[in-house]
Amino acid sequence: MAVCKKITKDNLVQFLQELTKDRILIAPVREHELVSFSPVADAGQIDFAFQNSFVPPKSWFFPQTEQIFSFRLEEGKYELSTPSLPGEAVLFGVHPCDLKSILALDPVFDGKFDDNYYCDRRKNTIIIGLGCQSVGRNCFCFKVGGGPLESNGSDIFLIPTGGDFLAEGLTDKGTELINKYSRFFSDSSAEQIDKEKREGTDRLLKQPTGLKGDFNLAKVKAFLDANYEIPYWEELSYRCLGCGICTYLCPTCHCFDINDYARSGLEGERIRCWDSCQFKDFTLMAGGHNPRPSKKERVRNRFLHKFKYHEDRYGLFGCVGCGRCVQKCPVNIDPRKIILDLQEVAGNE
Ligand code: SF4
Ligand code: SF4
Repeated sequence: MAVCKKITKDNLVQFLQELTKDRILIAPVREHELVSFSPVADAGQIDFAFQNSFVPPKSWFFPQTEQIFSFRLEEGKYELSTPSLPGEAVLFGVHPCDLKSILALDPVFDGKFDDNYYCDRRKNTIIIGLGCQSVGRNCFCFKVGGGPLESNGSDIFLIPTGGDFLAEGLTDKGTELINKYSRFFSDSSAEQIDKEKREGTDRLLKQPTGLKGDFNLAKVKAFLDANYEIPYWEELSYRCLGCGICTYLCPTCHCFDINDYARSGLEGERIRCWDSCQFKDFTLMAGGHNPRPSKKERVRNRFLHKFKYHEDRYGLFGCVGCGRCVQKCPVNIDPRKIILDLQEVAGNE
């Protein structure tokens, strides 16, 4: 059962500062107008009112670049060593869309195949979610099964209440942490938290967004299940530049490449780094065959992955409505418009 508490802003800063004594604290920090999730030594630096981070917090569990192992040739034999992982951490300030994206990544890295780099970080990290205080013009979490005060995916969830916060301990890890630092919290109740979530969500969803029309994702999914080749993908691909920024900033995208770098003939390292299905060479095989040779295939793959493949494999859509790609695509390719277009094409079939 959830533990229901309140915490003042001053106490929250002190609580987070206390956590830095025996854990790494990763939190949103604003630098040059961009908010990023970074290791924080001084909890006073945290931005509590940010709308969206530039790079999603997936980068804590699945870094943009990470060493898998290093190697060294000694007396005719290769010696391998794996890097030590960061240890106990708290990931603070994750908004509901990004919380949901971590739930979408879990079955990829911790499912049929375990990725111990991801799984170790995930196991050693307590996630403190933070409800949104405003809805951005590119946000559409509430159209893809989420909401600005949805707590799923957090160990502790904080609901902003005009300066202070209501706090829910939702998992054993979260509840233990609240109990350990109970001096910073005062009592609340499930009724108060439910009321604040309901009323807060109503208030937030009245804010203007750039969203037009109603979504019917079940209809889009059924259409994509039945229609692979449609002229729409080719038309859309004429606009796409293939820059890959949408996939780099998407909190659910998880393509990666692996490269070996030899520093000398005797030693080197194997690195994993983010890659993008929007790049021409991503699916290029050693023999020269490329199953996605044109932009049409690559653009189609991105949106099938968001609205069909991830759902087929894991029962969750691969888009959480964070709006990052809407904001950053240089040619305004917007998944909200794609959904509406596909609904229209489906209606004309
Ligand atoms: S597809 Fe775009 S809006 Fe959807 S989760 Fe990815 S970056 Fe966010
Ligand atoms: S950001 Fe836009 S132009 Fe760049 S690959 Fe994605 S859809 Fe194409």
